[in-house]
Amino acid sequence: AAAQGNLAAILPATAALHPDRPAVRLDDEELDFAALDELSARAAGYLRALGMAPGDRVALLLPNTPVFAVLYYGILRAGGIVVPMNPMLKAGEVEHCLKDAGATLLFTWHEGSREAAEGARRAGTRHLGVDPGPFTELLRGHEPAPFSTDRSAEDTAVILYTSGTTGQPKGAELTHTNVRRNIDEAVKVLRLGPDDVTFGGLPLFHSFGQVVGLNCAVAVGACLTLLPRFDPARALSVIAQDRVTVFLGVPTMYTLMLGLEDRARHDVSSLRVCVSGGSPLPVEVLNGFQAEFGCAVLEGYGLSESSPLACINRIDRARVPGTIGCPIDGVEMRVVDKEGKEVPDGEIGEIVIRGHNVMKGYWRRPEATATTVRDGWLHTGDLGTRDAAGDFRVVDRSKDVIIRGGFNVYPREVEEVLYQHPAVAEAAVIGVPHPTHGEEVAAAVVLRPGTGATPDDLRDFVRTQVAAFKYPRIVWTTDALPKGATGKILKRTIETPPHLLP
Ligand code: ATP
Repeated sequence: AAAQGNLAAILPATAALHPDRPAVRLDDEELDFAALDELSARAAGYLRALGMAPGDRVALLLPNTPVFAVLYYGILRAGGIVVPMNPMLKAGEVEHCLKDAGATLLFTWHEGSREAAEGARRAGTRHLGVDPGPFTELLRGHEPAPFSTDRSAEDTAVILYTSGTTGQPKGAELTHTNVRRNIDEAVKVLRLGPDDVTFGGLPLFHSFGQVVGLNCAVAVGACLTLLPRFDPARALSVIAQDRVTVFLGVPTMYTLMLGLEDRARHDVSSLRVCVSGGSPLPVEVLNGFQAEFGCAVLEGYGLSESSPLACINRIDRARVPGTIGCPIDGVEMRVVDKEGKEVPDGEIGEIVIRGHNVMKGYWRRPEATATTVRDGWLHTGDLGTRDAAGDFRVVDRSKDVIIRGGFNVYPREVEEVLYQHPAVAEAAVIGVPHPTHGEEVAAAVVLRPGTGATPDDLRDFVRTQVAAFKYPRIVWTTDALPKGATGKILKRTIETPPHLLP
């Protein structure tokens, strides 16, 4: 009975039904559900032998490998709290997360990066390297542990550090129930079943790849086929080879696949449904991808703090490009003004979320929690609208809004226009300080290979389509835009070429 409310209980339940089906795959390494279940039960035994007690935080700084899944479910089974971390973090960041979480153990891939080792040393966290072959042998030497009886469904299962696009990373605490309810809803919306093969190109340490990718696949007996780091050509060949049915990605992944010259060479007819989330999917990319690859793309919306799924388009409902559909069952979403009052349909306000997906809070930060979750409503910091049909739209992050001469410019709106230019592969619109306007609108653009467009061409293209205060006066082209581990464009680290500064 102790197992019932535990998130990790999805694994033995599926292993009982589909023991021989592939659970996780990476190249030619594969674990079926029986093996994954057995190894994670032994991992729980190993962790208890290491002295891990229920409620202890155990950090994983691992790439996308089957070992991630083994340890993830092993920690939960033993009653621990998983703290997944981004393997690209620098020593100071590793130290911050480990100290903040009070993690007692850190697992890295082999000995981990020098940064990880240094961070663990400074935080005083015990650091163990995972060498996959010997590690499996080591686990086989431990007895499978039963589910911990010391934890309840309302206890914290994972602490997810927000990637820190904004400020210092805080740990969003998700309970076993938070995650399990999110799995149930995602499974329903995406109609996932044991015949599905999910593309695992999103990092497992991040909410989207972890809950909608790994946990949903485990819950239904689908196979998760992992990619250690996203590469568009590799992605298309994995889709073809493994007959992937469900593709999960952030917008840049869709942009990159659509930009591949030999994309038609790959047989992606197995794809049944694609989901985009994490940042706005340009309408041009959505339409282009659906036309080229013949598969519906559902845009979803959420945050680590909302477990993560809050709102998504539905397979069987008309999808208006640029909208994120309506909330999942059991979740309410509203668009409110500064006083928290709902604004009329079509008007812009802050998106707030209430329901089973709202995090328990920020780990050990009651003040930050109280500012973010008020009367059960999660304040997202995202601006959006709702239309008369009940579909939502993300206008932009409130922090990204540019205020030029007192007028609000929503970068996404300008980016959408830039994407309509045939030479544009990627675009990011940002505000740069301006002596009289406060801020000026600037655009960094990556061009498609083999095309040509000057910054003036791009500026004039936008100028004809938007009001005069919105078009980017400052435009430059660049080879690449800075991106985080999930592939999100990191607008705050974009540097405007000094000679273009006002
Ligand atoms: P931080 O919160 O520190 O910036 P992060 O961006 O990695 O880190 P996440 O929880 O991964 O945090 O991202 C949540 C944010 O992603 C949302 O608040 C929203 O701004 C953006 N987002 C997610 N889905 C969409 C979408 N469909 N359209 C537009 N923006 C989206």
